Amino acid sequence: MTNRRDFFKTTSLVVAGSMVGANLVSAAIPAGKKKKKVGLQLYSLRDDMTKDAVGTLKKAAAMGYYSLETASYDNGKIYGMLPDEFTKQVHGLGMKLSSCHLGGPNYTKGTHAACMEWWKTAIADHAKTGMKFMIKPGMKWPETLDDLKLQMDYFNAIGELTAASGMQFGWHNHNHEFTKIGDEVIYDFMLKNTNPKNVIFEMDVYWVMKGGCSPIEYMKKYPDRIKLLHIKDEKEIGESGLLDFKAIFEQGYAIGIKDYFVEVERYNFEPLVSVQKSYDYLAAASYVK
Ligand code: MG
Repeated sequence: MTNRRDFFKTTSLVVAGSMVGANLVSAAIPAGKKKKKVGLQLYSLRDDMTKDAVGTLKKAAAMGYYSLETASYDNGKIYGMLPDEFTKQVHGLGMKLSSCHLGGPNYTKGTHAACMEWWKTAIADHAKTGMKFMIKPGMKWPETLDDLKLQMDYFNAIGELTAASGMQFGWHNHNHEFTKIGDEVIYDFMLKNTNPKNVIFEMDVYWVMKGGCSPIEYMKKYPDRIKLLHIKDEKEIGESGLLDFKAIFEQGYAIGIKDYFVEVERYNFEPLVSVQKSYDYLAAASYVK
């Protein structure tokens, strides 16, 4: 399975001021383009972000993206920048910082204290950015329901800590959550064993579909728990025809989702082109606000 469980590795970002500027497109919203609140998971532009974070942010803003979810936090830095500096760059381009993906250390009973310390620091760093959500997209994969319950207790503890800083902690799924341990579907078990006050769910609609389930049915079943969506397709949004994005957006708005993020992980084009095409697809869709 291709996913992001290992993308939190250190990236060495060289953001040289002199490299930024000359050959970049303007950060202004193109004339005639209606500004919709389309979010972008920056993992979609991971290689470009590694090469030139500021230049790539400018390009994302110029495409029309409104809000961002980050996917690079290491040693107190976000894409190689201190939280304040990163926030200034994003705000300066007229975009909003909404959410982040964070891995954290592998959790076992023995590492509880160290893990909670890691989250304390991560929460403090991200509180400086004004983000509202801190999302975990991977965990030590459980073999038994006891293993899974241990991880959910950990999620509840992180959730409580995150809520105390005015943000919300949540889980991002892949397809594996729609398999069972015993009689329990992992995703449902996770929903039932986390505190609704402190743990939200960012539902990746593509991975729900790959898990053999319906993102729409899940939103209907847990309308108060699913607060964010990953709008993802095989490659560019809308290209496969496998997902009914109209029905997904309508159901998402019906349950009051707080934000959604385009995610492109595989590409028919250069990533910047695929990410632009994905924005254009949603910008042209009458059902997207
Ligand atoms: Mg995703």
